[in-house]
Amino acid sequence: MSKPTGYIFLGPPGAGKGTQAHILAEKLEIPHISTGEMLRTAMANQTPLGQKAKAYMDKGELVPDDLLLGLIEERLQQSDAVKGWILDGFPRNVSQAEFLDQWLEKIKQFSEAVINIEVPDTVLIDRLLARGRADDNEDTIRRRLEVYQAQTAPVINYYQSKGNLHSLNGNQSLAEVTQSMTSLLQVA
Ligand code: AMP
Repeated sequence: MSKPTGYIFLGPPGAGKGTQAHILAEKLEIPHISTGEMLRTAMANQTPLGQKAKAYMDKGELVPDDLLLGLIEERLQQSDAVKGWILDGFPRNVSQAEFLDQWLEKIKQFSEAVINIEVPDTVLIDRLLARGRADDNEDTIRRRLEVYQAQTAPVINYYQSKGNLHSLNGNQSLAEVTQSMTSLLQVA
């Protein structure tokens, strides 16, 4: 039997990570783990974490690692994650990628595939404005794209040098991106 696989979706805000991660999760019957969704749920439930995270999310800044890493570690240990998982929005900086590597090293039996969805900035801004989430106003979008360039883009190089990065052209229709993704990952 093949090893359980962890899929990691990288890409700027608005690239379509959430949509494609959701589709892949249904096909493979493994959980779609979105740290952004988990944080929005914590915010809606007004948990201590949610209350602390809100200030960062409202500004388009990353939530600090000391708030976030416990959340993801706990999620990856839930029983539905033993067969594999799809991460969307994590890792968001190199220290999170290192944290994940250490965790994978500890449990050993996983292999990982990293998918980087590429979309030009001008297309991203139009898509995000059309989406209309609470943090999708022009100022926050600009800040999220800056934060992406400064903190998340280096994660691409991190995985590239490890040799398990796959790039996907995200500037196509949703169905075309899904098609490219499933043929790239060889899932039916
Ligand atoms: P997303 O739904 O992935 O676009 O995330 C929405 C917001 O949640 C981001 O702008 C960050 O403020 C926060 N967030 C989500 N994932 C992370 C993460 N891995 N590290 C830090 N902040 C995060």
